[in-house]
Amino acid sequence: MTITARPDDPAAAGNPRIRDGRLVPEVIRADFPILATTTSNGKPLVYLDSASTSQKPLTVIEAMDEYYRGYNANVHRGIYEIGERSTAAYERARAAVARLLNAPDAHEIIFTRNATEAINLVAYSWGRRNIEPGDAIVLTEMEHHANLVPWQLLAQEKDGDLEFIPITDDGILRLDVFEVLLRLKPKLVAFTHVSNTLGTINPVADMTRMAHEAGALVLVDGAQAVPHVPVDVQAIGADFYAFSGHKMVAPTGSGALWARRELLEAMPPFLAGGEMIREVHLRRSEWNEIPWKFEAGTPDIAAAIGLGAAADYLRELGMGRVREHERELLDYALPAIAAAHPDLALYGPMDTSIRGGVIPFNVPGVHPHDVAQVLDRSGVAVRAGHHCTMPLHERLDLPATVRASFNVYTTRADIDALIAGISEVKRVFGG
Ligand code: PLP
Repeated sequence: MTITARPDDPAAAGNPRIRDGRLVPEVIRADFPILATTTSNGKPLVYLDSASTSQKPLTVIEAMDEYYRGYNANVHRGIYEIGERSTAAYERARAAVARLLNAPDAHEIIFTRNATEAINLVAYSWGRRNIEPGDAIVLTEMEHHANLVPWQLLAQEKDGDLEFIPITDDGILRLDVFEVLLRLKPKLVAFTHVSNTLGTINPVADMTRMAHEAGALVLVDGAQAVPHVPVDVQAIGADFYAFSGHKMVAPTGSGALWARRELLEAMPPFLAGGEMIREVHLRRSEWNEIPWKFEAGTPDIAAAIGLGAAADYLRELGMGRVREHERELLDYALPAIAAAHPDLALYGPMDTSIRGGVIPFNVPGVHPHDVAQVLDRSGVAVRAGHHCTMPLHERLDLPATVRASFNVYTTRADIDALIAGISEVKRVFGG
């Protein structure tokens, strides 16, 4: 599967971040103040942990700062100037997110704190109403705990049945087995769009079509997709699409669930309180319209505004170009790492047309945490551990891995620093 630049990627004319149709990460880096900093031992920061959380550009930081300095007020309440401004900015952010995902209607976007909350919202609200004893829910072996544990809780409570699409040794979903699992007539199929651990880009539109043909609803975990590949919820055709803001250059505390209107309208509220109601009496209440039915209490207004600014920032770069940038980096990094360190264990699909900017690896004989610690001394920030995918690590028979991951600001120089840092790891550990 090749992802080419989207025809609707905005024009690059006049944007110095784009040259000859390609992102220029060296220019983009100037938007991210943290990337100009050094670590406490004087090394320039080489940030290769964007799959965990991304850095934030000035446009996002300034949008939030402007809100707090200039028009901090609650939303949907104050009939005064700054209250109306904050409501307008909050709803504009929702529209910006809808545009990024090509959602047909901004009211189908529910703001949440993160992908975890978005998935839990579906598990509690849709799941508790629709899953009955014996019903199957199909997941995959590569899910992040956020798209596994909520379904475990639901299955335990409702006496449901969890089934898993297995993976091949290089981290590709076995669609032949998926087909067999669909004969169980599952009520729901939930899978990640892009694996946070292996980088695998799953064929989400095909999987959605297969699931729908078997009568299941589909939830896609887009936490690692929205920041990195073009996401068009209408083209994918799924029923629920969840993601976090903080991985897509937006602030922590921001995220969203997109779902089809008719599903959201039929679902009971998740959290209850102010704002999600139309009318309240002592013994009964009526719910607000979507999306507010699912946004009880005062939301993180600044985070939502930051999320909107991030969505605009990415849209201006063009998600097709973002994807191509990360793929070119992978095409540089994988052979370069293998050439410099042929003894390294590299995991995930080697075909970069189905892989996002995630490189998990192990240095033989060195614990991943030790690798990360020595890399840190060179200023290189990577993550080591199980990356919230313990069952996937069990499947691959690995206690842990080191993971380097990219974003729009990642450069070849970052990869070179990683390669040099691994040499230092080997020197320290006598390899
Ligand atoms: N799903 C995937 C694929 C992820 O990578 C992550 C975070 O790493 C999550 C879900 C959960 O995201 P959050 O912790 O922001 O809710």
